[in-house]
Amino acid sequence: MCADTRAPWLKENMTTENPRPNRSDKPRRPHGGKPSFNRGAKPNTNHRRHRDEPEEKFIRRAIPDIDTPFTRMGIDARVAINLPGLGIETPSPIQEKSIPGIVEGRDLLGLAQTGTGKTAAFGLPMLTRLLNIGRKPEPKTCRALILAPTRELATQIAENIDAYAAGTPIRQFRVVGGASINVQIQRLERGVDVLIATPGRLIDLIERGAIDLSRTGYLVLDEADQMLDIGFIHALRRIAKMLPGERQTLLFSATMPKLMSELADSYLNDPLRVAVNPPGQAAAKIDQGVHFVSQGDKAALLAEYLSKHSGELAIVFGRTKHGSEKLAKLLDKWGYKVAAIHGNKSQGQRERALASFRAEETQVLVATDVAARGLDIPQVAHVYNYDLPNVPENYVHRIGRTARAGRDGRAIAFCGPAELGELRAIEKAMKAKIPVVGGEAPAEAPQPARGRGGPGGARPARKRPARRPSRAPKSAQQG
Ligand code: AMP
Repeated sequence: MCADTRAPWLKENMTTENPRPNRSDKPRRPHGGKPSFNRGAKPNTNHRRHRDEPEEKFIRRAIPDIDTPFTRMGIDARVAINLPGLGIETPSPIQEKSIPGIVEGRDLLGLAQTGTGKTAAFGLPMLTRLLNIGRKPEPKTCRALILAPTRELATQIAENIDAYAAGTPIRQFRVVGGASINVQIQRLERGVDVLIATPGRLIDLIERGAIDLSRTGYLVLDEADQMLDIGFIHALRRIAKMLPGERQTLLFSATMPKLMSELADSYLNDPLRVAVNPPGQAAAKIDQGVHFVSQGDKAALLAEYLSKHSGELAIVFGRTKHGSEKLAKLLDKWGYKVAAIHGNKSQGQRERALASFRAEETQVLVATDVAARGLDIPQVAHVYNYDLPNVPENYVHRIGRTARAGRDGRAIAFCGPAELGELRAIEKAMKAKIPVVGGEAPAEAPQPARGRGGPGGARPARKRPARRPSRAPKSAQQG
């Protein structure tokens, strides 16, 4: 389970001068350090003319003459020139498989988790196409729309797009809940090139007449399966109806539940299908284990693990907002540097918690599933599933927060006596057993005797009482 079969392209990049090609390294901002090819360009002082005219003149003047693996796949040199500075030198497998088709204008159905380089896989060709069209957005419209399930993921995507588009005229704008809607309405007045949104906030903005999607020619649905889990299906159906039929759509998902296939059918037109990790399977590099422990002993066990690995970043997943908050307070009382992130926190609190965790000012981030996907913090060495998720796929997403960017990572699941069903469901979804690293497994749920319970016999017979109690015996609960 520990063999490093995961991302040779990432390992290669770890040997470059920029060992952490990640968003926390504060990549160049669009207005910060412009690439050298642009330095001599005359500043455009005639803003009125600039707004009214196509930007092609400006764009043609700025095209640098470079030859990289990305330009060879059709990525615009103005974008490709930013990549080495971000540690992106060799295309990752998903980038290799999808960029050429996207550049050609094809729809895409990508089965890939975060950590595979999928933001660049859709972001680079999107910027290339926007630059090639070279038009300004009309007021209250966006030329490209990226939908993401959580504010955190939307923020990460926005940071990436900023970094890839540095030195080009393309601008992104992020609209998520928890931030002032009036400020967003005001900014949308001018129109934006790339709008990055969570579906709920986008619907609010559409209802207020702040944005019209009828001119959006490029759509990305990122982490689409999580958008469905969160209950965004109605929002997604509404949004689909507002988009023009003539558009390019890219849909990325780590898993492919049935509802997703339906969604894909309604959004995509003869898509290119690309998969990099079989859906629902964990990256091979994560060292996983399960520790059986009674519910009451979980906090002390967690403290033991944290102290053993003090100085290393850990994310602890809880099931409820309340439980996660309580655990964070307890850890704080015990002297750990801890932050919490869940749905009851304001946008500002969530952003501050993440920033301090990224900066390694806090060692532990206690989170609900809002942080299960998308978070890309390469320093995260441990993931603790303090409560097992009741949706098995979420386990894969949670543990995917570690072993990123070619590093090692460890994921320990704390399995209470009442969580054995969840554990087995996770193992079934992953098609792999999680090794036991501590405690004693409680008795399995009763299996029906031969000949009872119907074919497969997975559940006890309904009418007769089961022979053994379905809850674990007391002795096992001490484990
Ligand atoms: P993502 O899957 O988009 O969340 O990307 C995961 C991480 O990989 C991010 O920190 C990216 O900056 C980084 N990354 C993306 N593409 C490449 C690449 N071709 N080479 C090295 N790092 C990359």
